[in-house]
Amino acid sequence: MMSGMKEFIVFCIALCIAAGSYAATVVDDRALSDETDSKNWLAYGKTYSEKRFSTLDEIDLQSVKQLSLKWYLDLPKDNTLTSTPLAVDGTLFFTGSYSRVKAVDAKTGSVLWEYDPKVVEVAGKRLKNMWDTSRGLAFWKNRLLVATIDGRLLALDAKTGQLLWENITTDVNRALYITGVPKVFGGRVIIGNGGTEHTAVRGYVTAYDIETGNQLWRWFVVPGNPADGFENSAMEMAAKTWTGDWWKFGGGGTVWNGITYDPEFDQIIMGTGNGTPWNRRIRSPGGGDNLFLCSIVALDASTGSYKWHYQTVPGEAWDYNSNMDIILADLKLSDSSRKVLLHAPKNGFFYVIDRKDGKLISAEKIGKVTWASHIDLETGRPVENPEARYEGKGALVWPSTFGAHNWQAMSFNPITGLAYIPTVEMPAYFSDEGIDLKAWRTKEFRMRFGVNFEGDTPKDWGSAALLAWDPVKQEKAWSVENPPSWNSGTLTTAGNLVFQGHADGNFVAYDATNGDQVWSINLGLGISAPAVTYEVEGTQHVSILVGWGGGGLLFGSHAAQHGWPYRAHPRRLFTFVLNGKGQLPEFRPPVLVEPLDAPELEINEELAAAGSKVYTESCLWCHGTGAVSGGTAPDLRASRLSLDYDAFRTIVLDGNIPLGMPSFEDHSENEVRALYHYVRREARVIKE
Ligand code: CA
Repeated sequence: MMSGMKEFIVFCIALCIAAGSYAATVVDDRALSDETDSKNWLAYGKTYSEKRFSTLDEIDLQSVKQLSLKWYLDLPKDNTLTSTPLAVDGTLFFTGSYSRVKAVDAKTGSVLWEYDPKVVEVAGKRLKNMWDTSRGLAFWKNRLLVATIDGRLLALDAKTGQLLWENITTDVNRALYITGVPKVFGGRVIIGNGGTEHTAVRGYVTAYDIETGNQLWRWFVVPGNPADGFENSAMEMAAKTWTGDWWKFGGGGTVWNGITYDPEFDQIIMGTGNGTPWNRRIRSPGGGDNLFLCSIVALDASTGSYKWHYQTVPGEAWDYNSNMDIILADLKLSDSSRKVLLHAPKNGFFYVIDRKDGKLISAEKIGKVTWASHIDLETGRPVENPEARYEGKGALVWPSTFGAHNWQAMSFNPITGLAYIPTVEMPAYFSDEGIDLKAWRTKEFRMRFGVNFEGDTPKDWGSAALLAWDPVKQEKAWSVENPPSWNSGTLTTAGNLVFQGHADGNFVAYDATNGDQVWSINLGLGISAPAVTYEVEGTQHVSILVGWGGGGLLFGSHAAQHGWPYRAHPRRLFTFVLNGKGQLPEFRPPVLVEPLDAPELEINEELAAAGSKVYTESCLWCHGTGAVSGGTAPDLRASRLSLDYDAFRTIVLDGNIPLGMPSFEDHSENEVRALYHYVRREARVIKE
């Protein structure tokens, strides 16, 4: 009897352990607010606060030396990989190219299911707007939420990958796209879109019910035509800051990234986009702040009604959007704990803002910034350098349209008190000389800025760093040089580490206190996606997607210098643990593209000059500045198809949809011929 009882107890304990290991995490408001549980990585920024901070410390400054491969997964169908994987109860979920979703067993790296939203087929002519980029997905209870470049929002069953509903969030006849991550909160999901350079867009965000897919509310970022009436009093207020017939240009302000749910104030805090067009003299010729461009806006999460805003760039003219991720933190500032947000937008300042009312607490420069001398803390406004406004003259301005910081998310470690920011130092030359400001118009599916934008981006045009920033003191704690200039977002841990992937293919861990490099491994291809960490069966894992991609690749020779031409190197998901026994794959070394010349062709300089303008509008976004591809799409200078005019003409006008090449059927014979001469000329030029 005694032994029977013993067996029964042992059985019960075994049952409890089994039940414990299979108890599924309920991904809801409570779980998504829990900063202390780091078993999972439940959201894009890990939790609602977007800190990308994990309390796991098995991998620390000492043990990190034993960090090695557990497994890798080949992703032969993928190209651009920028996604933050989610880790839920031992399963990884991530988006690959064209928002194809995979669920992978984190123990073994085996694929559990895949879902393909068939983006290439659905997008059709809208492939002109965007390549294959997706930054990730969201998890709510038993559902995954994912968006596509063709403007759809989809809900999938997280167990099976089965489609539960889908909803179109954009006008399918317009040049709008989504690369961003849907954000979930309280049974709702919110999404914005991009397109400020491609059409007369009026930015908005929309919230949907996760259960049904029904729209709950939509909030526009900029006012429409006053003659149509305003949707709300916020739009009426915003309209007072615009002049001329701004609605004819859309105005801009799209929310393509940077939405944070703040559970403590039940508010959505979002960063808004730049103007359409960039040139304020066109979109708002009498001047004005142009609300709510380049702003942080708080909305009531239940109703979508306006609460407060802070504008980072009044009267924006340099593509300095504020779409970078927004972190929620509690900071001890002059003896009181304040609920703040941390924001490092493109414009080169680091902002600490009170989340209760949007009041600016402090702002300092994180790099070379010449468009403004400082932010006046009394008025909250930047003190602009008048030389930076390119009115009737050119202006060389820091930072560039790349931004001092772009969408690669910074992280914040509450133990060190530091934010870890991938930064870029690069100028841009702005001018509107020769542009007829009165006649200028957007054109659907043509990239237009309202400023001159042509030519290659040289290799040495900019530099990059990983910057550790103290938001309380508003000063640099340390920085280390990064390869130029497109490096991944960061992950920071209680093991006192910062992880970052680099443009040269190195995946690196730093001492979070002083920036010493403590571990590094080469993964054979430029890394654009951020790492995540989580626990499986009591062991800390680190996973990262390796697939060169994102907007920085349009910077021609500057991006191409790393030697990652279009699809030349395998795309993979890597997972590391301490003393992992996995075998690294063979890596192909970097290769530089060799342009092909057509020596018998006499280049018509006049046509080539006209072709440069057509190229900027229609080709640059994927094929790179100066016809030098950073790797997103084939390098036209080295393409056999672009040697011969007839072959070139066919691919431009007809496209090749399965390859992701849309048809540019609206281009005239003259435009195609001009493009051809431009590409042939650039293939002959020695690029620096
Ligand atoms: Ca932009």
